[in-house]
Amino acid sequence: MCKPLRIGHLYPELLNLYADKGNIQVLVHRCQWRGLTTEVTPVYGTDTYHLQNFDLVLLGGGSDREQELVAQTLYPRRQEWQSAISDGLPLLAICGGYQLLGEFYQLADGHKVPGLGILDMQTVVSQPRLIGNIGIDSPWAGRIVGFENHGGRTTHHHNPLGQVLHGHGNNGIDGQEGVHFQNVIGTYIHGPLLPKNPQLADFILQTALDYAGGNLILPPLPDNLEKAAQQAFMERRLR
Ligand code: GLN
Repeated sequence: MCKPLRIGHLYPELLNLYADKGNIQVLVHRCQWRGLTTEVTPVYGTDTYHLQNFDLVLLGGGSDREQELVAQTLYPRRQEWQSAISDGLPLLAICGGYQLLGEFYQLADGHKVPGLGILDMQTVVSQPRLIGNIGIDSPWAGRIVGFENHGGRTTHHHNPLGQVLHGHGNNGIDGQEGVHFQNVIGTYIHGPLLPKNPQLADFILQTALDYAGGNLILPPLPDNLEKAAQQAFMERRLR
């Protein structure tokens, strides 16, 4: 593929908890190491954008205040988002961004922040916050590790990203974490997510390359350090 892979980074000034933008760095470098080029477009709150100009979109996490600001610009465009996702647009959404894919995010005072309605999913804030290291097992991406910090409890009947091995996940009750729907991956896992989970980074990149019509299979990278970091985490947490 000679065209650059076009990555849209939505609202980096608002949704960047725990350095979620590090996920973009991983995607860019894993392309570079294979001789592939990328074009990253930060999209700020007031910018005009068209989802058809991206091969992959990232929505990071944020505080309740920042989520509300983002929701005000997202909600009026929900039809465009819904049709882009049903056309197969790859999207990685983390924590606050993940919550905004559902019907609503209900705050402690009962006020509902409206979501994009892409997923049949609801999130309600409760105490205590669900904080700490998390490890999950995904049927197609293997072990995924990272860090979570959310007040929201999320419920849905879509396929989860994985089953919780250590930590809380979607709601601390049903043992499920995240979502995998069409080419959307939603998750509570920060870290940032992708540096410690190279297999997930490559899954997302391959999906984006396929969506872009690149007709290219990503060759494997060594990933020895990344795999050792992941292994060390699992051994410490699951002893
Ligand atoms: N504000 C949301 C919550 O507390 C999301 C937080 C986050 O993105 N880490 O549930």
